[in-house]
Amino acid sequence: MFRPSLWANELEYRRTVLKVVLCIIIFAGSIFVVNNWLNGFKIYALIELAVVLFSVGLLAIHKKTPNLTLWSSFFLFAVYTVILIGIFTVAFKAALYTWLFLIPVLSYLLLGITLGNVFTCVYVFAGVAILCKALLGESSEIPVISVVNISLCLSAIWALSYTYESKRAAMVEQLQQMASLDPLTGLNNRLLLDSSFEMLCESLPERQRTVSMLLIDLDHFKKVNDKYGHHVGDKVLIEVASLINETRRLNDWAFRLGGEEFCMLIPDTSEVQAQNIAERIRLAVEKTITIDDIPINISISIGVSHWPSNGKTLNQLYKLADDRLYRAKEAGRNRVIAH
Ligand code: GH3
Ligand code: MG
Ligand code: MG
Repeated sequence: MFRPSLWANELEYRRTVLKVVLCIIIFAGSIFVVNNWLNGFKIYALIELAVVLFSVGLLAIHKKTPNLTLWSSFFLFAVYTVILIGIFTVAFKAALYTWLFLIPVLSYLLLGITLGNVFTCVYVFAGVAILCKALLGESSEIPVISVVNISLCLSAIWALSYTYESKRAAMVEQLQQMASLDPLTGLNNRLLLDSSFEMLCESLPERQRTVSMLLIDLDHFKKVNDKYGHHVGDKVLIEVASLINETRRLNDWAFRLGGEEFCMLIPDTSEVQAQNIAERIRLAVEKTITIDDIPINISISIGVSHWPSNGKTLNQLYKLADDRLYRAKEAGRNRVIAH
């Protein structure tokens, strides 16, 4: 399932990397522009100047742009093309080929594994092909061993960059899961409530913009713990979580907020539909749950609130659902209150 905060962290990471790379390219590029202009490579100097100016523009917008991957791709395309033109036209002794070593690193850090693979493949092979062509040229001044060394070193950097990025992405995903999932039930935890609510509100088309909140609390759960023990209580929580999860549609979100309190966010439903869903969950839980061959009577109370008719913010929605849950408890438990 899509996890909003994971994506936000990834974007923040890539923006920071892009900023560092842009600063390096602006600094190094400016030196090359002056040097190449003074040495008579005026067209090449102008191309480099264009890349430097593009980098300055990107530096100005890199924090805000929603199209970070697209802009990073344009940027790398421009930088790599300038490097290849340089290797193709400027003498080997200028050591411009050393910039090839940056290609795998920049591609994976800025674009991730999939696009990073594409950029690295295309530009590393193009760079080595240009070097081989220069090697085979009639008046070649390039020693074969140099091209072999460059290719081996490039392969090593490529392999290391790939390994680093794939392990980093997997680790971030794992950390995110640990931080956002409740370890007992596997449902989302409270930390994800805010961002999921925002994401639901933003992702829905205008006319379907409703989100219902179901606040679910087990009745007299303390007695279950006292009577059967904490470990049986845990299994009851897991069972209830799985019943809640079974009623969940693809776009609904289910959370364990803490203790024996659960929550569902249900987009694009009317107040009546939300109440019916709550009633279905209540009836599913009301059936006797069997844990370790012990039949246990469990019931839940549910408070339902509705966005935007009951409140504009998540806090208002939560408060109202909580008030209704409290009223359900007061009225005798094992019931849904939606009005
Ligand atoms: P009410 O119907 O008013 O909600 O009564 P209740 O007993 O369910 O509510 P109360 O808030 O008094 O007790 C909640 C209990 O939930 C107390 C605590 O021992 C138990 N609990 C909280 N977290 C866990 C957990 O992770 N595992 C188990 N087994 N019990 C938990
Ligand atoms: Mg309770
Ligand atoms: Mg409670």
